[in-house]
Amino acid sequence: MKVYGIIGWPVAHSLSPAMHNAAFQAYGIKAVYGLLPVAPEELEAAVRGLSALNIAGVSVTIPHKEEVMKYLYRIDETARRIGAVNTILNREGKLFGFNTDWLGAQRALTEKIDLTGKEAVVVGAGGSAKAVVYALIQAGARVSVYNRTLARAEELARRFGARAYPLEEINEAHGDVIVQTTSVGLKEERSPVPKEVLRRFKVAMDLVYQPLMTKFLREAQEAGCAIVDGLSMLVYQGIEQFKLWTGLEASPALMRQAAENALKGAS
Ligand code: NAP
Repeated sequence: MKVYGIIGWPVAHSLSPAMHNAAFQAYGIKAVYGLLPVAPEELEAAVRGLSALNIAGVSVTIPHKEEVMKYLYRIDETARRIGAVNTILNREGKLFGFNTDWLGAQRALTEKIDLTGKEAVVVGAGGSAKAVVYALIQAGARVSVYNRTLARAEELARRFGARAYPLEEINEAHGDVIVQTTSVGLKEERSPVPKEVLRRFKVAMDLVYQPLMTKFLREAQEAGCAIVDGLSMLVYQGIEQFKLWTGLEASPALMRQAAENALKGAS
């Protein structure tokens, strides 16, 4: 029996155990995936412990995605460029770090639109925005980042070759795709983007998935956009993790159903 899990702080509400355990079961893999809460001051010891305990792989979530990189044997080139690791694979005691968030974001968006040559707006410049901006640029889009703290948007823009604006200028934003990566709208009826602005876009994606239909997404839909909810990216990044760990391509429908069931149970 192989053991997998998620390290983060807190992790109690993670949907990843539901998604991965459903996939292990569906494909007849003798493995279990559990919650591994790790306080920030325990991160180094916990990561060393992964090899000692022969844990086969872990997902990494807030607040450890950057810090964890210090304690790994090798980091994949893309994860290094993004500056964050969300997946660890234990190969014969050596820990390898990857990033599947960007692939999740890219796959979720490209289901709706070919990103080549498109204008994209990213709202927010936190940890998740790094993977989203990388995904958009890698797919050939031009990116403008709007953030409450301009310096953070500028840093992100410099890193990936995007443009940076303060969030107060969001009324001027226009393009083909808009991605909401801030925590605004999480368990609240708020959106950082006025509805009139959303009329200028064809596709809108929100990273927040609690609730699944955020105010941002509802208004985007009313404004005529095709919408992509936060579970889409979560499911696709999970599918990429599953592939790294098992070599198998899990069914998106299966993982999504498991995540939705867990989300209903949590709310
Ligand atoms: P983070 O690193 O803490 O960044 C938070 C971002 O939200 C920053 O840009 C911050 O702006 C902005 N923000 C926070 N409060 C705001 C407010 N009142 N008004 C305007 N901007 C505000 O967080 P993160 O890791 O990027 O995560 C952001 C959200 O995405 C969370 O809800 C998380 O659950 C979700 N997420 C979803 C997925 C998925 O797969 N669907 C993956 C990762 C994250 P400042 O820079 O000005 O502080």
